[in-house]
Amino acid sequence: MKHTVDKTSLKNQQNAYRALARKLPEIVFTDDESCFRASLDNLRLSFLPDVVIRVDSADQVGTVLKLANRYGISVTPRGAGSSATGSAVPIHGGWVLDLSQLNSVHIDAVGRIATVGPGVVTAELQAAVEAQGLFFPPDPSSKKYCTLGGNVACNAGGMRCLKYGVTRDYVLGLEGFMADGSPFQYGLPLKKYVSGLNLRDLLIGSEGTLGVITSINLKLIPKPEKRWTAMFAFKSEAAALKAVVGLFKAGVSPSILEFLDRQSVGCAERYTGKVVFDEHSRSSILLIELDGSPTEVRTQRKRLLDYMEGKALAQRQARTESAAEKLWQVRRTCSQSMFSIADTKLNEDVVVPLEKQAELIRYTIALKKEIGLATPTFGHAGDGNLHVHIMYDRGSKADAKKAKAGIKKLMQKVVDLGGVITGEHGVGLAKAPFMSMQHSNAEIAQMKAVKAAMDPKGILNPGKIFEPFEVWNHDYVEVTMPWDHR
Ligand SMILES: Cc1cc2nc3c(=O)[nH]c(=O)nc-3n(C[C@H](O)[C@H](O)[C@H](O)COP(=O)(O)OP(=O)(O)OC[C@H]3O[C@@H](n4cnc5c(N)ncnc54)[C@H](O)[C@@H]3O)c2cc1C
Repeated sequence: MKHTVDKTSLKNQQNAYRALARKLPEIVFTDDESCFRASLDNLRLSFLPDVVIRVDSADQVGTVLKLANRYGISVTPRGAGSSATGSAVPIHGGWVLDLSQLNSVHIDAVGRIATVGPGVVTAELQAAVEAQGLFFPPDPSSKKYCTLGGNVACNAGGMRCLKYGVTRDYVLGLEGFMADGSPFQYGLPLKKYVSGLNLRDLLIGSEGTLGVITSINLKLIPKPEKRWTAMFAFKSEAAALKAVVGLFKAGVSPSILEFLDRQSVGCAERYTGKVVFDEHSRSSILLIELDGSPTEVRTQRKRLLDYMEGKALAQRQARTESAAEKLWQVRRTCSQSMFSIADTKLNEDVVVPLEKQAELIRYTIALKKEIGLATPTFGHAGDGNLHVHIMYDRGSKADAKKAKAGIKKLMQKVVDLGGVITGEHGVGLAKAPFMSMQHSNAEIAQMKAVKAAMDPKGILNPGKIFEPFEVWNHDYVEVTMPWDHR
């Protein structure tokens, strides 16, 4: 294919770069290493930016956006780059705005509000507030690496969201800059705020397409006094998922309720060479945590154990923190161990109504037979949010084709079951082709109209959510990310 260079646009880019380098010389990077790192997130497709800008003050964000808007340059905001969907990569080049150094933390222990920079790592905030007897519950599995700015921009979830809600439920206020560089403050560090249209909630989950967040006010709650963890084995997925529904009917309110299907447990058992439940190899598993005051936990535990009587094949209760940690290890090992089946994992974070989860699992088992690829599934069954994986070897074109067809079928099934194509990862690039399965043309048109109103020149994270992007046409990059433990 013959490439032609648009000279006007090249000149414009050069002028924009010169203006940027003149205004903010110390924070502009164009070296190969910086650009390569910023070209990737956990989807592992690489799109190089022209420039990486590592801001160390909020005002610099306004300066960058004013210039980008003037010259029409794309700007992709970035936290830790752990996005699972390609939402943090600059598919149209331009400037990557790295916000990871905006990492101030202020905790108002009396008002129970934390005010943080978007670059604060989630687990670091959690440790800081827990040291003061407080609690910030949203706990994405990537919490040791991902940033709160990324969490807000993706409305991140996690295991504890069952009892405590997702990131959105903790955001009181957002400060930042609009696409044209004007500052905004939607919400304040206050518990109540209903002034004007709620653009704060519009920004949450907008994946960096509507504005850049430079400060976040987060609600904190008291740290639960006690936790109790247990694991239960079931003969089948249907039995485990029936118990999920039954537990709620019995009035049990777990903080965490995780499900593992037999394919996932089989992966972990093969990988570690250990059977999770003696005599019940490859059973389906529920991992449950209760928390609250000692009385609450005692009452809930009794209710739960009464319900499980005669339903679970076996159980293990953790009496100490280290015993609980061993139980969680099973869940963590499942994720890593899947790479013993194949080198590529498509991780789909779908949600279906609680009572439809068993049907979804029946479908994933049928899909496994149909496409001849493993479909191990685990996840947040208390929320109906299951991570369905399709495993394939990327060297095999035939398998990649089957995986691609499998994902499309899976998404259609999820929508048919009354579910949603993503519950926590967001749309980014990977889910963009399925937006029209989930939303009507009129809905998508309205979303695009909002985007056009807030970012008329379309400079903020262009290409995400709405452009049907074919991930399959791009090569994966073999690179070790900080969260890889294989
Ligand atoms: C091992 C692993 C486990 C994971 N587990 C979970 C999980 O349990 N739950 C879950 O929800 N997700 C999970 N994820 C996905 C990912 O970690 C989350 O989406 C996380 O919120 C992204 O944060 P980040 O700092 O890495 O953001 P990035 O990946 O850098 O960016 C994500 C999006 O946010 C935008 N953005 C970032 N900062 C800002 C800002 N300041 N202003 C405006 N936009 C911004 C970016 O443009 C991009 O669209 C997991 C990922 C990995 C690799």
